[in-house]
Amino acid sequence: MKILVVNCGSSSFKYQLIDMDYEKVLCSGLVERIGEKTGSLTHKKDPGTDIERKINEESPFPDHTAGMTRVMALLTDPVLGAIKDLSEISGCGHRTVQGGEEFTQSTLITEDVLEVIHRLSPLAPLHNPPSIQGIRVIMKILPHCPSVAVFDTEFHASMPPKAFMYALPLEFYEKLRVRRYGFHGTSHAYVAAKAAEMLGRKEEEVNVITCHLGNGCSISAVKQGKCIDTSMGLTPLAGVIMGSRCGDIDPAILVYLARQTGMSIEKIDDTLNRRSGLKGICGLNDMRDIHAASGKGDEKARLALEMFCYSIKKYIGAYCAALGKTDALVFTAGIGENDSDVREMVCADMEALGIVLDPRANVTRSGQARVISDGTSAVRVMVIPTNEELAIAKSTVRVLMGLKA
Ligand code: ADP
Repeated sequence: MKILVVNCGSSSFKYQLIDMDYEKVLCSGLVERIGEKTGSLTHKKDPGTDIERKINEESPFPDHTAGMTRVMALLTDPVLGAIKDLSEISGCGHRTVQGGEEFTQSTLITEDVLEVIHRLSPLAPLHNPPSIQGIRVIMKILPHCPSVAVFDTEFHASMPPKAFMYALPLEFYEKLRVRRYGFHGTSHAYVAAKAAEMLGRKEEEVNVITCHLGNGCSISAVKQGKCIDTSMGLTPLAGVIMGSRCGDIDPAILVYLARQTGMSIEKIDDTLNRRSGLKGICGLNDMRDIHAASGKGDEKARLALEMFCYSIKKYIGAYCAALGKTDALVFTAGIGENDSDVREMVCADMEALGIVLDPRANVTRSGQARVISDGTSAVRVMVIPTNEELAIAKSTVRVLMGLKA
C-alpha cells in the first residue's frame, strides 16, 4: 500500500510517498516560495540510499495546486518517480496542527471534518488554514484517494484536566477553549512507542519522558503509553526555550511591556514567537552556530546554550515527579538526535533522579536509535530519530483499514 504524506504551510509544502509494505520512502520533496516570482522544488527518488536521485527546480508556482500538480508529474515520471499511475496511491495523510477537543484521533476527511478544522483556525491561525488548503488541493488532484487528517494535538488528548487546565476564570475554557493542547504529538507518540520496544516491554508497562528538540521544542510525560502532560500549551509558544520562541515566561511581562513601551499586541506576538528564545539572547537560532560562537568565546551564545539546557532539565525533573517512576528518557529531532553537548548539559548532575549518561555512548554518532546511558542508570537514556512522516502514514493506514473492516 502506498501512502502520500503531505505537510502544508502557507507558502510551502513537504511530501513523502511511502511504501507501507516495507516502510520505505519512495520519493520525498519540498516545494517552497509558492506565490512568489520564483518558487523552488526539491525532489528525491530513493532518498537517503546509495541510488538516490535528486533534482532542484526553480520556477514560479502561483499556488499550491500548481506545486502539487508538478509533484504528481514527478511521482509518475519514469526516471524520477516511483509509480506508473496516481491510482496506485491508496491514501493521503495530512499533518494537521490543531484538532482541538473535537479530534482525539486521526480522522477521514469529509466536508464536515474540514468545516470543523476551519472552525478551529483561530487556535492555530498560521497552521490550520494552509492544511485545509493542502487537503482541498489533494482532493481535487487525486479524487479517488481518501485523505486523512493526522493531528499534532491528538496524542495529548489523554492529558487529565489537572494538566491541561490553566488557572484562569473557568469561562475562558468553557467559552473560548483556552487550555493546554500540546503539539509535536506524532513525534512524541512515535519515539515513546519505540522506547518501549527498545526496553523490550509493552507501551502500557513503561513510563517515558520524550524530548523533541528541533526548531520548535517540546517535552512530554508519557505514562503507560498515554501522554499525561506536555510542555507546549494553547500554542507552541509555551514550555522550554526554543530557537526563536521564548517558552515559559511570567505572563505579566506582556502587560509590563505593553505599558512601558506601548507595543501593540501584534508586535508583542511577533517578538515572543520570532525574536526571542536562543535568537533573542544571542542573535542566533541554529544550535550549530551557537556552539561555534560559544567555542570562540561569545558569552551571549554560551548563556543562550546554558539557558536552553537548564529549561529542559527543569521539565525533565518535573515530569520525573509527575510520572513517579521513569523508565526511559528520549532525545529526538534535530538537536536531540545530533547534539551530544546539549544532551550532556541537560543530563549533568541528575544521578539522584536515576539519570546517568555513558559519556562515550553519548558522543558516538549514529543515525540509529540507541541507548546512551550508563549501565548504572535507573532511567534508560536514549536517542531515537523521529519519523513524523512514517507516523502520519501509519495513522493514515489505521484509519483506512478501519474503514475497510
Ligand atoms: P524542525 O523543528 O523544523 O523539524 P529539526 O528537527 O530538523 O527542525 O531541527 C532543526 C534544528 O536542529 C536546527 O535549527 C539546529 O539547531 C539543530 N541541529 C541540526 N543538526 C544539528 C547538529 N548536528 N548539532 C546541533 N544541532 C543541530
